[in-house]
Amino acid sequence: MPCRRSLLVLAACCLQMPTSFAQHAHEHGVAHLQIAVEGHTVEASFDLPGHDLLGFEHAPVSDAEKAAVAAAGERLKQAAEILRLSPAAQCTVADATFETETPEAGAEHVDFVARYRFSCAEPAALAGFTTGLFKAFPSLGELAVQSQTPQGVREQELTASQPEYRF
Ligand SMILES: [Zn+2]
Repeated sequence: MPCRRSLLVLAACCLQMPTSFAQHAHEHGVAHLQIAVEGHTVEASFDLPGHDLLGFEHAPVSDAEKAAVAAAGERLKQAAEILRLSPAAQCTVADATFETETPEAGAEHVDFVARYRFSCAEPAALAGFTTGLFKAFPSLGELAVQSQTPQGVREQELTASQPEYRF
C-alpha cells in the first residue's frame, strides 16, 4: 500500500513500529491517554484519531493535506504544551515520538500515537497535569485518561473546559 506508506513517513518525526495499543473503539473526537509515574520518570501515551489531528484519514494528496500532516507533527512534538505537569516537580522532556498504528487491510480509520517521557527532579511534587491537547486539536472533545502513580490508579475524562487532571 504505497499511499499508506507515504502517510506514515510524512507523519513521523520519529517513526517506530507500534508495540501495543489500548483496547478501545476508534471514535472521532475522543482521545485516550495512559500515563504512569515511576520514580523520577513520567511515561505518557496518547492515542489520537487521525480525523482530529488532520481532518482526514487517508494518505495526504494535496499540498494542504501534506501541510496538515506536518503541522500535526509539529504540535505533537511540543510535549511540554500537550502535557503540562506540575511545575514544582521540575520535569523535562526526555523523549517524544509520534507514530501510527498498523492499519488493517481496507481500514478506513487511522489512529496516531504520541509517546512522551519526562524526567522529573522532584517527583514528590507531581500532583497532576493540564493538557494542551484541546487547544492544539480543537475538534477533540474528550480525553479519557488512565493514570498509574504513587497516589494509585485513576480514570477520568477531560474536556476543553476541564483540562486538569489530578493524580
Ligand atoms: Zn476515523
